[in-house]
Amino acid sequence: MTKGLLLCVCEGTCPSFQSMDIFEVLNRLRREKVFDWVGLHPQLCSDDGDVYLRELLRGAEIDRLYVAGCDPRMQSKLFRDPFEAVGFPRDKHTGVDIRNMDTDKAVDAIKRLVDDSPAGEGCGCNG
Ligand code: SF4
Repeated sequence: MTKGLLLCVCEGTCPSFQSMDIFEVLNRLRREKVFDWVGLHPQLCSDDGDVYLRELLRGAEIDRLYVAGCDPRMQSKLFRDPFEAVGFPRDKHTGVDIRNMDTDKAVDAIKRLVDDSPAGEGCGCNG
């Protein structure tokens, strides 16, 4: 099962993400091989973020796409158009809210999410 993680950080300037070291979050998860790949985007809900998601997901063999950023229900609404445009099933997306967390808490929240969402199960956050 291919698992990918995108970290989205509201341009990196939002106070909600100031307490964490976003590269350390990604590197810890990489070192522990929690995901097959990780990526960082500053604003997935912007126009170019929409293009990025379409290009990433078009024809992709991704079993589960985790996005750590804002509220998962908000993510579900914000990413609906690019998912639909390329036929990426919405239930393959699992979101986790890591706003206002420090590095340790963000890593823990992301790992917990992976533990709680085994293959084939939706996360219940897709509205
Ligand atoms: S998708 Fe969420 S975390 Fe990412 S920039 Fe938009 S509001 Fe911020």
